[in-house]
Amino acid sequence: MSETHELYPHLFEPLDLGFTTLQNRILMGSMHTGLEEEGNGFKKLARYYRERADGEVGLIVTGGVAPNRAGWVFPFSSRLARKSQVAKHRIVTDLVHETETKICLQILHAGRYGYHPFCVAPSAIRAPINRFRPKALSNRGVQTTIDDFARCAELAREAGYDGVEIMGSEGYLINQFIAEKTNRRTDRWGGSFANRSRFPIEVVRAVRARVGDEFIIIFRLSMLDLVKGGSQWSEVVALAQEIEKAGATIINTGIGWHEARIPTIATLVPRASFTWVTALLKKEVNLPLVATNRINMPEEAEQTLAEGCSDMVSMARPFLADPHWVRKARMGEERGINTCIGCNQACLDHIFSKQTASCLVNPRACRELEAPLVKAEAHKTIAVVGGGPAGLACSCAAAERGHRVTLYEQSEDIGGQFLLAAKIPGKEEFTETLRYFRQQLENLKVNVRLQSTPTVEKLAAYDEIVVATGVRPRDLTLAGSDHDKVISYQELISGQKTAGRRVAVIGSGGIGFDVAAFLLHDPASKPDRDRFMAQWGIDRSYGNAGGICAAAESEPLREVFLLQRKTTKPGANLGKTTGWIHRSVLKKNRVKFLIGVRYLSIDDGGLTIEHEGETKKLEVDNIVVCAGQESQTALAADLEAAEINYHLIGGARKATEVDAKRAIYEAFELADRL
Ligand code: NAP
Ligand code: SF4
Repeated sequence: MSETHELYPHLFEPLDLGFTTLQNRILMGSMHTGLEEEGNGFKKLARYYRERADGEVGLIVTGGVAPNRAGWVFPFSSRLARKSQVAKHRIVTDLVHETETKICLQILHAGRYGYHPFCVAPSAIRAPINRFRPKALSNRGVQTTIDDFARCAELAREAGYDGVEIMGSEGYLINQFIAEKTNRRTDRWGGSFANRSRFPIEVVRAVRARVGDEFIIIFRLSMLDLVKGGSQWSEVVALAQEIEKAGATIINTGIGWHEARIPTIATLVPRASFTWVTALLKKEVNLPLVATNRINMPEEAEQTLAEGCSDMVSMARPFLADPHWVRKARMGEERGINTCIGCNQACLDHIFSKQTASCLVNPRACRELEAPLVKAEAHKTIAVVGGGPAGLACSCAAAERGHRVTLYEQSEDIGGQFLLAAKIPGKEEFTETLRYFRQQLENLKVNVRLQSTPTVEKLAAYDEIVVATGVRPRDLTLAGSDHDKVISYQELISGQKTAGRRVAVIGSGGIGFDVAAFLLHDPASKPDRDRFMAQWGIDRSYGNAGGICAAAESEPLREVFLLQRKTTKPGANLGKTTGWIHRSVLKKNRVKFLIGVRYLSIDDGGLTIEHEGETKKLEVDNIVVCAGQESQTALAADLEAAEINYHLIGGARKATEVDAKRAIYEAFELADRL
């Protein structure tokens, strides 16, 4: 493996750290899974990491582990503070060390982000995203905390880890000491920059002193806080240099505090948008640097290294999506990579709602032990009807188990709702999922029949029938709903029909939001890093503290009204970690949200509604209907009538709140049972 790799020479160059060597330049970034706190969770965690190690990742960083109780992210979250807690970590390190992969434990002290009453911080200033006010640490408390970091690192070494990552970014405790915004102390831990940076430097020194020379210490440094009162660039550089002197082995990049209102990892962030920050620091320090954020395919990863932005690249979510990302890149099988689409729906949204993390495009993630997808004992013939996300996922998983699968799709292409989703600005990554499925169908020799609607008699010949016929948009029952002005979301997004300058969108669920974003987006523009920075107020010249500036404003492309009958907040069901971004995009484009609306009629003049006790006419050119969906069940009914057994999955089974996550999960579950 030490020979130069033809396609990705930088990515596959080993990294010599002096006392140990990493087999390649790819770091699996820290990601809490929820298994850490589950009873028997470490066995599952070990299998989860082992699969990524089998996939040849160079270095794994575990999810964050608190060094003491005050450092918990939430009550009873994972902590390593006592000898008795070492054994369970051994299960992980032993299994990973049967491979060449190295593994570091992340030490994370949440500080004022701790969602519990014991949280502490440099100063007693409540975080805008937490209802708990932290207690200010005393001088003695600061010293004890430093000691707890060192003790945690010592225990990590005992547990067999190759090193630790000290979490110094994302707005957690260490970051809170560094930034003036959160540190109002007047003792030796606050005030001047030298005082504010004392805490991280002392932590690194203490850890190095406790673990000896031959142990990796990664420091995750916030290089761009993206909050008011964050660090100046000169402070980032000075701190990095001190961290190097204090004994760190590697510096990893942190971008944006959790409370920042600038997207840093969502799909709408163009790929590799933040590598420039790491590149700036590259000139200032000597130790290896790691670039992060929205690097999800080998091309960007290689380019980041080739351009000299960093010495390693970090990816976290891409390893949930595909544990074998690295091996596939090495073998030149990039088309077979199941790409992370940055949706957050099954990873971060799960974590923030106290569910175990998984992945929308890979429901096996974090379930490796329970759902190994073993070869079927009897190989059956299976017909899957419907080539949307559910049908595709079921076909591939069933074929992987050794069944002979035929996939019927009535249109001329596979993809279903994914084909529409991929046309929404900021969701272009869905095309990667379709590329992956196409490759899988080919690799697994699934017989794909496009423009084909099988008869009940034909289906009866198969051992198993899976009906994944999806959904159709719900029609409006309203006076004038057949008016020319009325467009369904499918007609609009697929390009069958276009909308005028003033548009009313009926329904403000996920699709209503997507449609509004679609209407406000210039179809000629492609994802562009500079435009993204300008739109969200990220200052590449780093003139201000935190790297922020005023966001650029532009005239919206259309005047859009987004309507709903309920009086709840529009988009209340959008993802926990991405909903604010969708709302923010629409607000920037001056979308008018109307709630508690009653629809009365549609005519040449527009849409008449009752709103806030008045009858109003919205003089719009078009009305786009995003009023949810109904299941397409005709085939299921025919099979029922013929008394033929079948399995119903995805939107065809239940249209309410169906999304790709549920559709793919159901498909996978079924394929595992067939
Ligand atoms: P949805 O979230 O259920 O929203 C349907 C909307 O239509 C609601 O705003 C509802 O509000 C309205 N509505 C329902 N029946 C109506 C009727 N008869 N007449 C007029 N309005 C009616 O469904 P969706 O937007 O179609 O999305 C489908 C699924 O995909 C959802 O699970 C959604 O979460 C998911 N999705 C998520 C995202 C995302 O997170 N970014 C994006 C796309 C899709 P009122 O009843 O109050 O009027
Ligand atoms: Fe990526 Fe979405 Fe999977 Fe999370 S759920 S790992 S963001 S594809």
